[in-house]
Amino acid sequence: MGHLLDRLRLDPPPLGRLGEHEELALALKDAIGTEPRRPADVLRTYTESLEPTVVSCDHPAFLAFIPGAPTKAAALFDMVLSASSLHGVSWLEASGAVAAENQVLSLFADLAGMPQGAGGCFVSGGSAGNLSALVVARDTGRRRLGLAAADPVRIAVSDQVHSSVGNTLRIIGVEPLVVPTSDHRLTGAALAAALDAASSDGGAPVVAVVATAGTTNAGIIDDLGGVAEQTRARDLWLHIDAAYGGAALFVPELRTRLRGIEHADSLVVDPHKWMFAPFDCGALLYREPRLARAVHTQDASYLDAIHGADGDGHEDWNPSDYAYHLTRRPRGLPLWFSLAVHGTDAYRDAVARGAEIARYTARLAEETEGLELLREPELTVVLIRRTGWRPEDYYAWSKRLLASGLAFITPSVWEGETVARLAFLHPGITEETVRSIIASLTQDA
Ligand SMILES: *Cc1c(COP(=O)(O)O)cnc(C)c1O
Repeated sequence: MGHLLDRLRLDPPPLGRLGEHEELALALKDAIGTEPRRPADVLRTYTESLEPTVVSCDHPAFLAFIPGAPTKAAALFDMVLSASSLHGVSWLEASGAVAAENQVLSLFADLAGMPQGAGGCFVSGGSAGNLSALVVARDTGRRRLGLAAADPVRIAVSDQVHSSVGNTLRIIGVEPLVVPTSDHRLTGAALAAALDAASSDGGAPVVAVVATAGTTNAGIIDDLGGVAEQTRARDLWLHIDAAYGGAALFVPELRTRLRGIEHADSLVVDPHKWMFAPFDCGALLYREPRLARAVHTQDASYLDAIHGADGDGHEDWNPSDYAYHLTRRPRGLPLWFSLAVHGTDAYRDAVARGAEIARYTARLAEETEGLELLREPELTVVLIRRTGWRPEDYYAWSKRLLASGLAFITPSVWEGETVARLAFLHPGITEETVRSIIASLTQDA
């Protein structure tokens, strides 16, 4: 308990460092034996040898990949979940937990402008959400076209789509129809051209389109309105991957960039990214949940009890019916608790702060000799070129930053070139830290 509270009180937590294989092997050598050990001793192995080699995603200067920055309220409630072995498979077993999760999902559906009746469940993250949604898209599409279960179909994606969507298509045996982007965005016009061409290229029919609201690498939002016009005109399933960018729904100025999101047939938003929920928490919403039930409901005699075998005619809401999972923790509850404790205005302000500090960083990069802002940030990712640096210079810079404890930033690739990529999200990062990071980019090793 002491350790938990100490960790929660750290502000900021230590940034952490990379562990060496030998060092960790030594630390773990006798950790698990045949005889019991005192919990305090085992905890010491963790705190002294393991924890320091884990970089803290919730450090305000963790700007690599997409950070996570859970609120203290959400982190505390996550412990309640674990301590009570709460699970959230079905209404029968966990109605209170499911009702609270659904309250949060309804809030998201309302923010997105999806119709009454939209719903789904919380899954482990964007990857699980994309997989679960695209199975529904595939099977619904096959049914609409009168195809058999094994008949090939295609799903249209942009050349910027998240890697998890590529994985999903391989897993579910669907060929991608890759649509070229213009300026890294999928547009309605490019989609229309690709779909027209695909209708006579001899390939399998296209049943769905994936659009992205906030690419992970650069925070770019597809032309959701234009894409939705095409999917509605052609009766195609529209899946919107807003794993990272969905949090922008809280902020009116950013919300306008997501216009068209209300047309999604399925929508993924990751609260464990820019909505300050602990890992692992992804939200998956369907416009017509019954279509997901038709695909995901598991059929087993021991499950009849959760599927209305009592005959009361009441339609129960089972999270297990909306994704590929069965046993699951009600991972939406920490977010529910935190939203209730802080109120949605606090979320609006915290999300807006990330975008604001990204714009501040962009201005600073523009003004700094030797640096070049590669693109105006639409959300919170800032891409910067340091004149004259080769890829190894960016990697050496990244290592120096982590070793100095200033920040954790990993390089990325933009238009074929290695660049510095800063992904903001933690509202606690200061302009002073940003100035130090920008200054470090101007110094050679
Ligand atoms: C992060 C991300 C994903 C994957 O989400 P996980 O929670 O890491 O599984 C998918 N799509 C986009 C756009 C993302 O940013």
